[in-house]
Amino acid sequence: MYIKQIFSKRPRTKLDQLVGAAITFCRCFHAEQIRPEDNGLPIVHHSKYVCELPANHRFPMGKFPRVLHFLLKDQVITDKQVWVPEIASQHLLSGVHTDEYLDNFINGKINEQEQRRTGFPWSEGIVRRCRYETGGTVLAAEIALQRGLACSTAGGTHHAFPSYGSGFCLLNDLAVAAKYLTGKSPLKRKVLIVDLDVHQGDGTAFIFKEESCVFTFSVHCGKNFPLRKQQSDLDVSVEDGMEDKEYLSTVEAHLPWLLDTFRPDLVLYDAGVDPHWEDELGRLRLTDQGLYQRDLYVMKSVVTRGVPVATVIGGGYSRDIDKLAIRHSIVHRAATQVWRECGM
Ligand SMILES: [Zn+2]
Repeated sequence: MYIKQIFSKRPRTKLDQLVGAAITFCRCFHAEQIRPEDNGLPIVHHSKYVCELPANHRFPMGKFPRVLHFLLKDQVITDKQVWVPEIASQHLLSGVHTDEYLDNFINGKINEQEQRRTGFPWSEGIVRRCRYETGGTVLAAEIALQRGLACSTAGGTHHAFPSYGSGFCLLNDLAVAAKYLTGKSPLKRKVLIVDLDVHQGDGTAFIFKEESCVFTFSVHCGKNFPLRKQQSDLDVSVEDGMEDKEYLSTVEAHLPWLLDTFRPDLVLYDAGVDPHWEDELGRLRLTDQGLYQRDLYVMKSVVTRGVPVATVIGGGYSRDIDKLAIRHSIVHRAATQVWRECGM
């Protein structure tokens, strides 16, 4: 069933644990501002996560600033916890994307057919948005390696392939972060991508199918987009209409043994909220409580094993932007609970 050898032959060393548990304070290269004086859960956000779209476009672009708004308004976090990412450089992106695609994407040479596949009309704003979003995921991963847990307020564009965008995803932020962190480490760092967005992480699966130090785990609705699935290292396809209890049991059946056998140095968690019963594109029936329990379970399972975790918000679709933004903030609220209970 698995293409990759997931059992680690290398025992976890003391040094790995130190790096993994983030006790060392190496410099982050992708932060514009670092706020070491604050002890709260690190939240990565940039005002340029958002850009203009044509009126009535179905992608809920307005959700990104509203996620931060509700976290501040509800006093889940303070503004001192907010870290600001740099824009992802072309060099960083080229770890995953082809030079030709990056040149076309950045300079507006994407033809109409390609734009249709992405779901977005090309604009300078969307390029900037995607590059900051990717910078945000890389920064969240870097902070997680130092502090154990960090959450972006965007990210999870898992349908982007090396040479083309698809399904509202233009750059694959998860893949760029995983590639950068596995390539950078002399320790051959290993990354586990836990993708619980309702859609399969097909771009990410494709990018890492031959890569032994990145393991892709996707739980998704089998009948949902993309029609043609790629092969992740572990795919769990679920039926339409699945509810909280069964969904949580599904995650619980796979995550612990995956963590204990692959033994990652970092987990990237895509906490997509499109399995929610009210989501316009999902086909499952999870509630707010179900999503909260799911996020809490994933992060606690990872953190209690001494493994750092960085989270991205993934997909979520509703015309009611505020309702959607509050739903996306579930992962940050659950992370805050983990941060407190685990004494981080
Ligand atoms: Zn999705």
